Order: sequence, then structure tokens, then C-alpha cells
Amino acid sequence: MSDARRKRAPSAVVAAVALAASVLFAACASPPARALGAFPRPAAEPLFGASEVEVVVLGIAQDGGVPHFGCEQWCCEGARIDGRALHPAALGVVDRRVGKLLLVEATPAIEAQVDLLHERAGVEGRGRQPVDAVLTTHAHLGHYLGLAWFGREVAGSKEVPLHCSPRFGEFLRGNAPWKQLVALRQLDVRPFVIGEAFSPWPGLLVTPIAVPHRDEFSDTMAFVLQGPSRKLLFVPDVDAWEKAPGLLERLLDGVDVAYVDGTFYDGRELPDRPLAEIPHPLMTRTMDRLADVATARPGTIRFVHLNHTNPALHDAALRRQIEARGFAIAAQGERVGL
Ligand SMILES: [Zn+2]
Ligand SMILES: [Zn+2]
Ligand SMILES: [Zn+2]
Repeated sequence: MSDARRKRAPSAVVAAVALAASVLFAACASPPARALGAFPRPAAEPLFGASEVEVVVLGIAQDGGVPHFGCEQWCCEGARIDGRALHPAALGVVDRRVGKLLLVEATPAIEAQVDLLHERAGVEGRGRQPVDAVLTTHAHLGHYLGLAWFGREVAGSKEVPLHCSPRFGEFLRGNAPWKQLVALRQLDVRPFVIGEAFSPWPGLLVTPIAVPHRDEFSDTMAFVLQGPSRKLLFVPDVDAWEKAPGLLERLLDGVDVAYVDGTFYDGRELPDRPLAEIPHPLMTRTMDRLADVATARPGTIRFVHLNHTNPALHDAALRRQIEARGFAIAAQGERVGL
């Protein structure tokens, strides 16, 4: 959300509802003190130095975003009352050398996220071709449902290149409603070779790396994006590192900045589940593994894909502790010179 938009005064109706809701909230059990903490705020300048190619973080939450459909706990009620929202994890790339835009993940919040990308890129007048190419990591709803917005009911785009794994491409071609987007050539499915770098356009390099995850409909990718100045890793969804020895080190090899799965903090979010059964790497375990990297290059390991219940989203004091260890929670709207 832009600063200008953030400052926009809420309507009288919203204010009245918020007041009524806060009275109702006050009458219920008190939320933890952290409940109404501010979400991470983006820095004004690009992180790690400017570049003609820039990555914009378009969302930092898990697939369901915040507030989360079906959650009436303090984590989401507080956000509803305040009118605060976090989108599912996604990146945009602005290449000012050629005036092109890449969207990494097509989430259910695609409209607001591409709007944020256009605003950060200073782009307008794109009409039905809001971006020049799309990458998707896997077929879970927070990562690809937004592809439907390219279809005839909404943008009615023409041949937007979609770079995805061969299995993901087959899934789209074989299943409604996706196969209609392919048949009408609103999306131009361009399967990549896993493990081999390709260029959505000259001067921008993407390497897809397969990672283990709950792969019902497609396999799951991490992406390394390389511009003229830096290499950036995006791995929003992956199984616990213990299940794939050496994977984390392989993903980080030669990378300058990494956006890493931070779905759960330390397991307190899932009190009824044994830690060994939590399907994601806990942030606390990732921080233990990468302590040396964080000390040597503070701020280069940045967590995304945080579940609505993750205390690091809501608790600024906890975020400061994480930063003191050299790590960071990504902020929606932050930019990195690539
Ligand atoms: Zn996800
Ligand atoms: Zn919640
Ligand atoms: Zn997933």
C-alpha cells in the first residue's frame, strides 16, 4: 500500500464499524499486548543499493494473507478493526532498461499487488497487459489463483508469457478453468527446464530450482533472479530443512539476498502439533542454521510467507530481536536493487 493511500482517511461508515467493533472487542477477553502491533514497514530507499533493475516485495503473508478467511482470533480481528492487510508472498521485478515488468506469483490479491508494482515502478497506461511476464512457484492457491484474472472475465490479456515447470504447465492445460486461458492464448505457457537458467527478456536471468513441498497438482520451485548487480533467492514454500539435507546451502550458493519461507516462527502457532510434524522450516531453526551468514551480512536473509498467526508479524519487539540476530522480516512494498 502506498504511503499516500495509507494516509487516506477511512470513511465514516468504516470508522463507525471500527468503533463498534472495538467496543465489542473490548468487551471480550483482552488480546495479547502484541495484537495491535504495526506490520513491518518498508524502507524508503532500495535495500542494498540502487539498480536499474529492482525487485519489489508485493506481499509477505502465507497463501491466505492477513486478515485470514476463517480466523476470528486476535491476529486477524485486530487487522480487520484497523483496516490493515497483508497480501500473500509475491515479488515484482521492474527493469527500467527495457521498461518491462515481471510478476513472481499470481496470488488472489493480484489486482492490489500489480497496482503496487505499477506505483513503485512509476508505470501507467498498461491496460490489459498489466505485466510482461509471470513466474509461478507451484499450484497452491496463494501462488497461482490470480492467473484467472488474466482471463476473459477480467483483464482479457493477450499472450502474457507464463514461465512455469513442465508439470505445472500440464496441470494448466489439462484442467478447467485454467485450460481456457491457455486455449484462448490469454496466457502463453512457456515451460522452463528445471535447474537451467532462462531469460524472460535479455539481461534478466531466472534459475528455477525444485524444492520438496506438498506437491498435489504441480511440483514446487524456488527461483534465483539475477540482474546486473545482484542475485536474489525466492523460496516461499518448502519442507523443513531437516528433510532435505544440503538444500538450504545449495539454494543460497552465490546469492546476495534471500527471501525465505518464514511460515511459522517456533511452533507456538501450532500448539497441538509435535514440532517434527510441522511441514515448514521454523524461522528459529533457519536462524540457527544461518547465524554465520546473518552475522557476516546482516539483513540479507529476509523472511516471507508468514502465517497470520506468526508472532513476528504482530510483535515489533520480537522483530527487533530477530533483527539483532542479523535477520529481517520482509516488508510489503520494500525494494531491492537487483
Ligand atoms: Zn504458500
Ligand atoms: Zn488470524
Ligand atoms: Zn504451498
